Amino acid sequence: MIPEKQIRLLPPELQNQIAAGEVVERPSSVLKELVENALDAGATRIRIQIRDGGQSCIRVSDNGSGIFEDQLELAVTRHATSKLQNLSDLQHINSFGFRGEALPSIASVSRFRIASARHDGDGGVLEVLHGRILRQDKTAMPKGTDVEINDLFSNVPARLKFLKKPGTETRKCAELVARIALANPHVDFELVNADRTVHRFLAAQDLTQRLAAIWPQEVVESLHGVDFKDGELSVHGLVGDPAMAQGRPDRILVYVNARPVQDKTILSAIREAYRGRILGKEYPQAVIFLEIPPDEVDVNVHPAKTEVRFQDDGAIFRIIRRAVLQTLERNVHQTHAIEHA
Ligand code: ADP
Ligand code: MG
Repeated sequence: MIPEKQIRLLPPELQNQIAAGEVVERPSSVLKELVENALDAGATRIRIQIRDGGQSCIRVSDNGSGIFEDQLELAVTRHATSKLQNLSDLQHINSFGFRGEALPSIASVSRFRIASARHDGDGGVLEVLHGRILRQDKTAMPKGTDVEINDLFSNVPARLKFLKKPGTETRKCAELVARIALANPHVDFELVNADRTVHRFLAAQDLTQRLAAIWPQEVVESLHGVDFKDGELSVHGLVGDPAMAQGRPDRILVYVNARPVQDKTILSAIREAYRGRILGKEYPQAVIFLEIPPDEVDVNVHPAKTEVRFQDDGAIFRIIRRAVLQTLERNVHQTHAIEHA
């Protein structure tokens, strides 16, 4: 006989730990959530510290709006957000966050501390261990927010085992910071790994200057500007000269409304524009920013928000291909055509 089982609501810590499975895969996904929160808070300076690939420590401090002391507990409560109020807001998202899931998820699988001040000098601090609040207090700090995460996944051995070597996790964190920094040229970013500065992106740099910190000089020098507009859609960025094509797609960076995304439609449109100019097994370099009215793209596809869904995939494909093609036609004088493999 099947034993009778009652249906019960899971305790909040467990709900958060389950959600954490989707939102926080590894240190770099924690970092992404924290940096996006800082950007949503209007920060112009974001300082990031990590240790041991982020597993023992990830710390992000910003000079953004800060959080009211009496709201700190809400910040680590699931489905609590200051960025969304009703269903119609969901159709016009203009912030990185909106699900109110990141902080509670992260706090449920780590030792977590958030300190925040709305004004210089007076703030609050909240400490959480594996989803349980340990301490809340007042603290004196400059305006902004400082989140520190220690011992990530210390209560989730399965996740811990799945992490790569610290060096690999550090590299993923560094790539993530660079990727976000490219889309936010007005913000000063610093990434420090075990007391050594990995990245410093100063506020006054443009896209080319920021790329120069992560890509080889000859690649950066060969890039051509993309600038294209069609109605409410616009595409800008930089694309590589066909002569610089490479064997791997790791220098194709795509952003939709400043959000870094992985998108098959945009990737294939970029490759299609290069058809006949590079070999079929080669990839160009590209940094593409697509601006689109928020109601024509759904960013609420996955908790990590690296995928989006377009209302009209075909239109996106065409505008990206045309934008890149126009740049290539204007800048690249073809000496011989290459058969597409
Ligand atoms: P979401 O970003 O989806 O709203 P989070 O769990 O990431 O959810 O954050 C919860 C809330 O905490 C945010 O809506 C915001 O009000 C506040 N918050 C988090 N990080 C910061 C920060 N760095 N600066 C100011 N407010 C923050
Ligand atoms: Mg967030």
